[in-house]
Amino acid sequence: MEIRYSSTRNASHTLTASQAILQGLAPDGGLYVPDHIPALDTPLPALSRLSYQETAYLVMKKFFTDFTEEELRSCIASAYDEKFDDPAIAPIQKADGSFYLELFHGATIAFKDMALSILPYLMTVSARKQGESHEIVILTATSGDTGKAALAGFADVPGTRILVFYPKDGVSPIQERQMVTQKGGNTCVIGIRGNFDDAQTGVKELFADEALKERLDQAGFRFSSANSINIGRLVPQIVYYVYAYGKLLASGELQEGFPMNVTVPTGNFGNILAAYYAREMGIPIGKLICASNENKVLFDFFRTGVYDKNRDFVLTISPSMDILVSSNLERLIYRLAGNDVRKNIELMRSLGEKGSYEISQEMLKNLSDFAGGYATEEETKAEIRRMYQETGYVLDPHTAVASSVYQRYRADQKDPAPGLIVSTASPFKFARSVMEAIRPGEEEKDDFALIEELSALSGVRIPKAVEELRSAPVLHKKVIDREEMRQAVLDFLEI
Ligand SMILES: *Cc1c(COP(=O)(O)O)cnc(C)c1O
Repeated sequence: MEIRYSSTRNASHTLTASQAILQGLAPDGGLYVPDHIPALDTPLPALSRLSYQETAYLVMKKFFTDFTEEELRSCIASAYDEKFDDPAIAPIQKADGSFYLELFHGATIAFKDMALSILPYLMTVSARKQGESHEIVILTATSGDTGKAALAGFADVPGTRILVFYPKDGVSPIQERQMVTQKGGNTCVIGIRGNFDDAQTGVKELFADEALKERLDQAGFRFSSANSINIGRLVPQIVYYVYAYGKLLASGELQEGFPMNVTVPTGNFGNILAAYYAREMGIPIGKLICASNENKVLFDFFRTGVYDKNRDFVLTISPSMDILVSSNLERLIYRLAGNDVRKNIELMRSLGEKGSYEISQEMLKNLSDFAGGYATEEETKAEIRRMYQETGYVLDPHTAVASSVYQRYRADQKDPAPGLIVSTASPFKFARSVMEAIRPGEEEKDDFALIEELSALSGVRIPKAVEELRSAPVLHKKVIDREEMRQAVLDFLEI
C-alpha cells in the first residue's frame, strides 16, 4: 500500500516519500510524517536469519513506497559497505547482563553514520525520480558531529556537493581535525569566526536568500539540508531495532514474541522515535526508556506532561545530548494528539512563544510506553568506571548516560525483559572524558596519548577513523567572517 507523507502542521497536502526526502522540512515549518506506520509482514523468526542490508530493505520498502526494489537495494548496498569496520554493521555486545547495540562502526564512529551513510543516495535517487536536473548542494552549520558525518556521507557521491560551516573556536580539536582533513572533490569545510549560533544563523540566512537561490538555479544547483528531521534520516534508523530483535532471537537471548526493553541516549529525539516506529511496525519492544543527561527537559516532560525549555543550558561530557528543544518530538506529539494538526500547531506555538507547553492528561496516558530517566555528570562517569572495572567493556559518555539510566530502571522496576542499550559513539571519540572517568589525573596528556592508553586498557584496536587522523593532511584551511559566507558559497560552486 502506498504511503503518503504530510506535514505535522498541514495535513491537506500530501507527498510521496521521494518528494518528502527532497523537501526535508515542510515549508510551514512542520515535519513530514507517514499517513500510517506500516506493519512488518515478515514473521519474527525469519528476521533472525537476515543480514543488516536485507533487514534494511524490508523496513525501507515499507516506508519508501515510490522507490523501486532496484533503487532501494542499490542505495542500501552503497551505504552499508566496507565503510563500516564490522560486517554486522550494528553488532551487539553483551556486558553485565545487558545488550549494547553498537551504532558506531561507520566512518565517523558515531551513530549519525547509520542514517547519513544512506541519505545522500536516497536524495540523489529522489531527485532523479522527481525529474530534478539540478545538482544538490548540502549546506550545514555544525557544532561538531553532524558536520563530519554529513561530509563523510556525501563525499564523492555523484550529483551532490557539500559545504560545512563550523565555529572556529566552538568545536573540539579532534572534531576540527576530522572535518578539515575530509577528502572528496565535492566537499568544502570552512571555519567561521564566532560561535555555533553565528554559523547556524548564517546558514539560515543563506537558505532564505531568494536572490542567491535564483543564481544557483540558473547555474544548475539547488540547496538542500541534511538535518535530522529529514524522513530520509529517520526511517534508516528503524532498521537497527528490527535487526537487533532478530539477532537476539538468533542467539537465543530472546524467545519469539517476548519483548525487549530499549534505552536510548537522547538529544533531538530522532533515535528513540525510530525505536517507537519499530515497535509500531510490530517489533516486540516493552518499554522505550528515554535517557537524558543534566539537560533533562525530556525526563521532566515524561513525568509531568509539561515540556519546558526555560532553564539553564548545561555543558556536559555527552555534548550530542545537550539540547533543550528536541525537534523530532513534534512527530510524537502529533501522533499522540491523534494526528490533529490544530492541536499540534497550538502546542508548537506555545513552545515558540512561551518556551513551554503542556499536553492533555489523555495524551500523557498514551505516553505510558515511554519511561524517562537521566544521569548526572557524576553518575555518568561512575557508570563508565563501573562497567570498565566489572566487565572490561568501555562506554562512551553518551552510552554511559543510557546505561546508568537503565541500571536504575532495572533495579527499581524488576522488569525481567532483556535490555537493549543503544550505544551511540565509540569511546575513542571521547577518549579524554572516558579516561578521566576511568583513570583520573592524566589531564595534561594530549588526545592521541589518551587514545593509545584507552586502546591498551580496553584491548580494543584504535579505529581506523581515529588512526588516520594523525597523519591525514589538512585539506580545508579557510576561515572567514560570517558576512563572507555568501561569497564562500559562490566561490565553492565557481559561479
Ligand atoms: C546525535 C547523538 C545522540 C542523540 O540522538 P538523537 O537522535 O538526536 O536523540 C546521542 N549520542 C550521540 C553520540 C549522538 O551523536
